[in-house]
Order: sequence, then structure tokens, then C-alpha cells
Amino acid sequence: MGRLDGKVAIISGGARGMGAAEARLFAKEGAKVAIGDLLDDDGRRVEAEINETGGGCVFIHLDVTSEANWQEAIAVTTSRFGRLDILVNNAGIGGVSSLVEETSLADWDRVMAVNSTGVFLGTKAAIPEMRKAGGGSVINISSQLGLVGTDNSTPQYQASKGAVRIFTKLAAVQYARQGIRFNSVHPGPIVTPMTEGRRSDPEAYNLMLSRIPLGRFGQPDDVAYAVLYLASDESRYVTGTEVVVDGGWVAQ
Ligand code: NAD
Repeated sequence: MGRLDGKVAIISGGARGMGAAEARLFAKEGAKVAIGDLLDDDGRRVEAEINETGGGCVFIHLDVTSEANWQEAIAVTTSRFGRLDILVNNAGIGGVSSLVEETSLADWDRVMAVNSTGVFLGTKAAIPEMRKAGGGSVINISSQLGLVGTDNSTPQYQASKGAVRIFTKLAAVQYARQGIRFNSVHPGPIVTPMTEGRRSDPEAYNLMLSRIPLGRFGQPDDVAYAVLYLASDESRYVTGTEVVVDGGWVAQ
């Protein structure tokens, strides 16, 4: 028996990194999975891999900043798999500058559009289908940098991830009586394409490593198992909370 048997999930940013790890794990645990991403080739590769190993997966081209794209993605998911139980708002991007006074409005807006507005639009589009299914679970991927400040990130990234944290709590309270749960997940540094640049720069890598009590970067599956718990009925009494998967970064 799979932990997600009979459930249907949509994962944004599922073409690579943590989103792809979650898609593989969800499929292994019995869910039908739609992955939405801008990266069509990578997304189709993950789709084929999951389908070849006996799971049910569909890739959908999705820009999370587009309300029309979200409506289409939800419609394709429900017409293919019949319902919607789980949404993982995972798509995210970093930013280009560091100090507040060096940050351009254009880059601030770009990061906010993907990391914060994208979560709002995905949630808005999914709620009616979850209500039809009798409830659901929304997992919003924030960051440990949505909880504490640091000197080696960007203002727009940290602000966008902080917004995800509190939006999740608001939605949890608004929709609790309809059986829709909302929780945020806060990964620390994880080995994915997003951190490739910092991992290949020895100074940046060692600085980050020195801040991780467990002494290593996380792997995508370290986060995927937390997301799996929140997606499954095992977490049925858990809503509006934060699950931190950061090797101890925010405990210091
Ligand atoms: P990644 O860059 O490997 O994957 C992110 C995915 O999101 C990519 O496939 C990308 O194409 C997709 N994406 C970007 N913009 C999009 C858009 N507008 N519409 C649809 N898809 C879009 O990154 P990752 O490390 O797997 O990150 C996943 C999530 O975890 C992100 O929200 C990220 O901010 C967050 N996070 C990452 C780390 C880390 O150390 N890697 C730490 C904390 C939080």
C-alpha cells in the first residue's frame, strides 16, 4: 500500500531539483502526478521516467506567474486524473543582487512574481477542485531564509519566502472548515541546480557549510519525505504550520 494511494497531485517546478524528487516519491507512493514547469524537455523526461516505472504522470507547460496557465494546468490534471487532492507550490527562483540599495525594482518584481504571486495563483486555482474532492493538502515551499535573515542571500528572495510563510497560515485558517490544509516547508541549502553556482564557489560553499550544524547540504529526498508526510493523510491534524528541513540552520 502506498502512502498516497488514490490521490492526485500537482507539483509546480517539477521538472528538476526538489520538485522532480517529490514527483518521483509521490508516484512511488501511489499518487497520480502532474508536473508543471517552464522547462519542457526536463519535464517530459521526468514524465517519461515515472510512466516507464509504472506510475501515472503528466507534464504540463506552466508559468506560475500566469493565472490562465494555472487554470489550464488544473483543468488538464483533473480531466486526466479525475480529481485534485494535493498541490505543491515548489517553483522558485533566486535573485541577482545582494544589498537592498543595489537591488533593482525589476529584479524584486521578477522574484516576487514567481515565488510569492505564483503561490497565490496556484492556491487560488486549486481550491475549487479540492473542495469538490472533499478536502486537500497544499504544501508551499518557502525556505529557511523565509524565517531568518542572512548576509548571503537577496532581499527579494528572503521577502518572497517570508510572504509564502504567512500566506500559508492565512489560507490554513480560511479553509480549515472545508478540509483543505496548508503548510509551509522550509528547506536549508539543498543539492539542486539552484545552488550549483554557490556550491562551485569554494568561499560561498564553505560559508554555507559552516552554518549547517549537521555539516552537509541536504539532498532533494531529505525535503521530499517531509512534503510526502504533509501531502498524506498521516498529517490530517496538521495545518498552518512550518516544517523546517535545514540541517539545524535556524536552531542556532
Ligand atoms: P531548481 O532551480 O532546481 O528548480 C526550480 C524549478 O522551478 C525549475 O525546474 C524551474 O524551471 C522552475 N520554475 C522557475 N520559474 C518558474 C515559473 N515561472 N513557472 C514554472 N516553473 C518555474 O530549484 P530547487 O532548489 O529544486 O528549488 C525548489 C524550491 O525550493 C524553490 O522554491 C526554491 O526557492 C526552494 N528552496 C531551495 C533551496 C535550495 O537550497 N536548493 C533552499 C530553500 C528553498
